[in-house]
Amino acid sequence: MAEIERYEARQSGGLMLNANESSENFPPEILNGLHRALDELAFNRYPDDSCEALHAAYAGYAGLTPGQVLAGNGSDAVLGLMISLCTGSDKPLVTWDPDFSMYDYYASLQKAPIVKVPAGDTEALKEAGKNAGLVVISNPNNPTGLVLSRPEIRALLQAMPHVPVVVDEAYMDFSDQSMLGELEQWPNLYITRTLSKALGAAGLRLGFLVSSEENMARIRPCKVPFGVNAFTQAAGTALLQQADQFDERIRQTVRERQRLLVSLTELQLPVQPSGANFLFLQGAGMEALGQKLEEAGIIVRTWKGKDQIRITVGLPAENDWLLQALRDVTAAGGKETVNADS
Ligand code: PMP
Repeated sequence: MAEIERYEARQSGGLMLNANESSENFPPEILNGLHRALDELAFNRYPDDSCEALHAAYAGYAGLTPGQVLAGNGSDAVLGLMISLCTGSDKPLVTWDPDFSMYDYYASLQKAPIVKVPAGDTEALKEAGKNAGLVVISNPNNPTGLVLSRPEIRALLQAMPHVPVVVDEAYMDFSDQSMLGELEQWPNLYITRTLSKALGAAGLRLGFLVSSEENMARIRPCKVPFGVNAFTQAAGTALLQQADQFDERIRQTVRERQRLLVSLTELQLPVQPSGANFLFLQGAGMEALGQKLEEAGIIVRTWKGKDQIRITVGLPAENDWLLQALRDVTAAGGKETVNADS
């Protein structure tokens, strides 16, 4: 059996700022629509394998044609599909270091070599990518929050025209460099998107792979049958038709991200600018800081043995709680350990 690193995420505790979820459930109008959709479902029947209504709703939302869209059980599932189709023992996966850990998981299942270049080093990525079975990068990057501009992505696509490149735009709603509008121009461009982040639907498990119609016609027959359940199809369709209800939440997250960035910088914490719904801190004392926050009831993403933490941007009151905890920790003598290299 292949050696696979397990994906683990804490799901309960105090203030959960570790998984880049939305802090709020759907607005009441959307919940009411979902209740109605539930009443109409035939649970005894298999779901629509072609996801016709859902693909049409996503195409309408994203400015694409239904022929460009394939839904999956979270973007995780469509990333897994692309990685299993394009990598293998002689077809490496090329990605950033660091990046979303599930890329490695799926490549390991294929026994594919995994080649990593430092996140943001586009020249190294171009070089390594030329020999890849598949290049996958998240943009904005998880966990650093780094955003590559559209011209930078175009240059990557141009440098390796025969290599499929997946740009994982799970967090792009919090930024403005999406390549969704250029799919037909770039034959090697594939994009994954999710409803788990900006549309606050992590529990629904719904994500999309999009590319040119030609590429999608080749990939569609390879998907698992009935990969998106009937409830998720109905709920996702309803949600996408009212996606503008999330616009203000997204704007608030972006404002709060900026407020936190400024406050954390004032606290002399080693924080980096981010285009996502989280902030990344890297430097001496960060692992200890993660532990202290946990003791204060605030759960952030930590990596064992690494001085880095990732903090999801929460609601304003949650961010106030976080800031107070950080002030307490830094004032209580944590300063030497916390910002030793800032
Ligand atoms: N891509 C990135 C970069 C992520 O951070 C995540 C979730 N944390 C995913 C994809 C998967 O999201 P989902 O399966 O919920 O769509």
